[in-house]
Amino acid sequence: MPFEFQGKHVTVAGLGVSGVPAAKVLHGLGARVTVVNDGADDRARAQAAELEALGITVRLGDGGTLPDGTELIVTAPGWKPTKPLFTAAGQAGVPVWGDVELAWRLRRPDSAPWLAVTGTNGKTTTVQMLASILKAAGLRTAAVGNIGVSLLDAVTGDEEYDVLAVELSSYQLHWAPSLRAHSAAVLNLAPDHLDWHGSMEAYAADKGRIYEGNRVACVYNVADKATEDLVREADVEEGCRAVGFTLGSPAPSQLGVVDGILVDRAFVENRHKNAQELAEVSDVNPPAPHNIANALAAAALARAFGVPATAVRDGLRAFTPDAHRIAHVADVDGVAYVDDSKATNTHAAEASLAAYGSIVWIAGGLAKGATFDELVAGAAKRLRGAVLIGADRVLIREALARHAPEVPVVDLDRTDTGAMLQAVQEARRLARPGDTVLLAPACASMDMFTNYNKRGDAFAQAVRELGA
Ligand code: ADP
Repeated sequence: MPFEFQGKHVTVAGLGVSGVPAAKVLHGLGARVTVVNDGADDRARAQAAELEALGITVRLGDGGTLPDGTELIVTAPGWKPTKPLFTAAGQAGVPVWGDVELAWRLRRPDSAPWLAVTGTNGKTTTVQMLASILKAAGLRTAAVGNIGVSLLDAVTGDEEYDVLAVELSSYQLHWAPSLRAHSAAVLNLAPDHLDWHGSMEAYAADKGRIYEGNRVACVYNVADKATEDLVREADVEEGCRAVGFTLGSPAPSQLGVVDGILVDRAFVENRHKNAQELAEVSDVNPPAPHNIANALAAAALARAFGVPATAVRDGLRAFTPDAHRIAHVADVDGVAYVDDSKATNTHAAEASLAAYGSIVWIAGGLAKGATFDELVAGAAKRLRGAVLIGADRVLIREALARHAPEVPVVDLDRTDTGAMLQAVQEARRLARPGDTVLLAPACASMDMFTNYNKRGDAFAQAVRELGA
């Protein structure tokens, strides 16, 4: 049912990347928009001034109170469901939509179907691989979500698309009750953002919403049973199939790997006997195990949309990963230096540590409540040494002492701008030819750097100085 915005009292919760465009679009549709925002800093004031000039009401410094007469809330996805604003909305029977729900409701009836991706790690990479494959098939598409085109622009702009490759976070899914994707994938599920969702069950349930109402395929990770459980629990359209991806040999209705070849046993005639060759493992960049899994998930969604095998190969070959995601920086004295600064949680770091044989590991930063025992125990055999940086490095040091006592550890007690250079120098001292020095911090960066990009840049700069 199209929603009638004309004259409706809509409260937009939160200025910022999604709130400002949402307020403008709603205003343009004739809604009576009030924006509420917790903060009142310079940026918020500037944004407020811009919106007020259009005739939109903005309340700064008060994101908790429900404005009188509100008929709908459109919230920034990051706002916690426990906020008083939402309690008040629940009591008053006011619906709450996130930015994704808004985009979904505003799309034109004949607009492009969505191929959606979520998971704890690998979303951005998979969505970009998917868009690359869809483009190779000659389809008009875009990678939409946290990076690239915003969802709202994609559905309300002038550009025409045949299909969209959409990245969705657990927050966004929480606030998107009526979203119905053509097909969707949950890449993996590891504890993350639990303070926001309240529990692992609630986090998983929000991720699982991505499968609701899928028409063609629910793509899950054979190695991560929790993702398959979510498929089983989802209410999908008649005829929608569960399709697994695996790094092993695929069973019928799965995509997998056989002798270095990515193969499809789901979207082929007579899948009990036949398999379709899609690409070689070496077509995936970088060909690390977790990234091959991402490629298989992207391929599964593309194949669900009817894309030919050759386009999967061409799209994967054309894809280059974003910066700071297992980026090979340089070889110095026979040692490879790799920047995976984007490994900001233990699950991501585990994947990149699994990709190399003998590693000098640079780790540490803000742990966000994580524990490191499992990560360290799993990687212990492959660690030549470790260099620890950042606020919570003691947690990693203790885990190393428990599970890898023989691994030499350098603990850097400094947070100034020169710290990364020293970390890289220490790593070089520990490394032997054939080793990989891997920045995979397993932690957020904000204790020492503005963001993970800056952390990765500092690493790359330090490596260049070694080679100079
Ligand atoms: P997201 O958008 O989910 O944050 P990215 O594609 O940006 O994911 O990758 C973030 C980091 O997660 C990468 O640097 C890598 O360390 C790790 N990663 C990527 N894909 C996977 C995967 N399938 N499983 C585990 N870790 C992964």
